[in-house]
Amino acid sequence: MAEVQGHRARKRFGQNFLRDPNVIRRIVVTIDPKPGEHLVEIGPGLGALTEPLIEAAGQLTAIELDRDLAARLRQRFPAERLRLIEADALRFDFASLPAPLRVVGNLPYNVSTPLLFHLADYADRIADMTFMLQKEVVERMAAAPDSAAYGRLSVMLQQRFAVRKCFDVPPGAFVPTPKVTSSIVRLTPLPAGTHTLEDPERFSRLVAAAFNQRRKTLRNALKASIPDPALFVQAGIDPNARAETLAVEDFVRLANVLAHAPA
Ligand code: SAM
Repeated sequence: MAEVQGHRARKRFGQNFLRDPNVIRRIVVTIDPKPGEHLVEIGPGLGALTEPLIEAAGQLTAIELDRDLAARLRQRFPAERLRLIEADALRFDFASLPAPLRVVGNLPYNVSTPLLFHLADYADRIADMTFMLQKEVVERMAAAPDSAAYGRLSVMLQQRFAVRKCFDVPPGAFVPTPKVTSSIVRLTPLPAGTHTLEDPERFSRLVAAAFNQRRKTLRNALKASIPDPALFVQAGIDPNARAETLAVEDFVRLANVLAHAPA
């Protein structure tokens, strides 16, 4: 187990600590924190990003799961500068924090997808989010239709956010060194009224089902939820198309037609 600044890096918490000062600087420039903004860092770890972010914003809220790291951070930063919440970000109620939130973090890779879905539920309280993630995950998040990376994650996030990949970060920027390349990604909520859903739960189920059998035509993949192909036509969608060819707006239209269809 790698030891970093006297801390034994825990694999199960996805601990790879940033050590490259140029990368840290570039991430902070990308976040561009301003005094008085409410920054929320997920997984501050040993504080590589926390320190420059506090310097720029004045104060910061951080959510850390590892008890040892939380104790170290409490010792290092005064409470009026760092509000440290020892918790699992996956279960944390982000509505308990004063909005608007600027959420940032070098995220633990093992929980990144469920964490993104969890945070998407708070989109109306979020000003933006800037994350370091595995490069492949960022490519899936930002993917356009008709590409191999386009799928459930792309549609679910792009329904609520503009997703922009910023830059790649090589494995050597971290200790311990991960096996994969990382990327910085920025998510900005879309203006109110974009991609409005009548029934978000139904949209979520529809997108999951469509990509669950992505090689099949929509008519076949969605047989259980859309037995009547006329509903596709009503939404302006070819029932013989496959999920990966549909734009986010197509999924939104189809879900909204379904929401109005008699059960
Ligand atoms: N931000 C630090 C850096 O860049 O050096 C550490 C990044 S490390 C990849 C991920 C951090 O998230 C670790 O500090 C880990 O303990 C923490 N973490 C892991 N799972 C978490 C969870 N579910 N909720 C909150 N923090 C978590």
